[in-house]
Amino acid sequence: MFKCTPIKRENGEDWILLAFNDITLWKDKERTEKKNADDIKKILETLPQMTLTVSPKGAITYFNQFSLDYLGMSLAQALSCSWETVILPETLTMVITTWHDAVATEQDFNMEFQIKRQQDGNYRWHLCRASVIRNEEGIITSWVGAAIDIHDQKTKEQVKDEFINIASHELKTPLTTAKAYIDLAQFNMGKTNNENLLFVQKAGESINRLNDLIGELLDVSKIKNGKLDLNISTFDFNEMITSTIEGVQLISPQHIIMRTGDIDEPVTADRERLRQVFLNLLTNAIKYSPSTDKVFVNILKENGEIKVSVTDSGIGIRKENIPKIFTLYYREEGRAVHFQGLGIGLSISQEIIHRHKGRIWVESEVDKGSTFSFTIPI
Ligand code: ADP
Repeated sequence: MFKCTPIKRENGEDWILLAFNDITLWKDKERTEKKNADDIKKILETLPQMTLTVSPKGAITYFNQFSLDYLGMSLAQALSCSWETVILPETLTMVITTWHDAVATEQDFNMEFQIKRQQDGNYRWHLCRASVIRNEEGIITSWVGAAIDIHDQKTKEQVKDEFINIASHELKTPLTTAKAYIDLAQFNMGKTNNENLLFVQKAGESINRLNDLIGELLDVSKIKNGKLDLNISTFDFNEMITSTIEGVQLISPQHIIMRTGDIDEPVTADRERLRQVFLNLLTNAIKYSPSTDKVFVNILKENGEIKVSVTDSGIGIRKENIPKIFTLYYREEGRAVHFQGLGIGLSISQEIIHRHKGRIWVESEVDKGSTFSFTIPI
């Protein structure tokens, strides 16, 4: 680079200062980065989804032709248009805030929202992702993003969720009435030692199972609608653990539940929701260990947290499936199918524990068994 600066000296003479800088390396780097950016655009242009690039500071610099066709704009129009013209107004603030957070923290952007299709004016659901591209020195040179149309799949899912929600609510009322009558019949027959008591007890157990199942389906709806509220109180954690174990022991006498550890102070949390998580882990431990007869429960306080672990010596989980185990409706292919279940319990448990700002995880080995643990801060 060549720089030329006029200077006036004190004696009145006019001088010129010439400076030369060797910027070959810098120019080479600039050329490489431009070539990389051009290569990325070439790849993005071939994709049958909306793609774009963004400057390090967050301004959009390029849309592929697929995006322009969807938005019904020229490149110049798309680059200068404001977000409110293409994003569903109700979600606009949330999208902009999440995007600004991603840019400020240099974290990947990952969000589902609706984008307007010019052709028919409909807002269609898209899964939108953007990641940073860094140069050799680790400095961000751009962002690359894609928006994948998931509208059809999302609409089907919404219809299914709505149906499950309505059906569960409709089933809940007659089931509560049936349960009340069964409890009453059981109570009266117990007094007279009626020979049919056993049948009524069996009917009661089935009603309880159905009730739990409907409760779980309703919880899934609550989670999806962000309405799973916690009911916080201060309670005796040991008592909650003991009574849950006693309840499970009654209906599963073939397994012995061995418990170690105590929490020596009251805990402030949602008692019923934590009981639900513990019950789920305990009944799973029993269900998935049909050929053994012991399940271990350990409770302890460490590093300002309560930790609960449930260990079985059952069928275990394949290593590659462990990351999927807390996903809604996930059941281990070819293995869990031999046991009753819908693949809902662990995903609800995870949500409850996360709402308590805790952690939940599993360590497992096939045919050796599993240990599910959760922590909540005290
Ligand atoms: P469900 O038991 O009704 O299928 P969950 O959400 O409780 O639903 O569990 C999801 C899946 O995790 C199960 O289908 C099973 O594959 C696996 N799993 C859960 N607990 C255990 C366990 N203790 N041992 C082995 N596999 C388990």
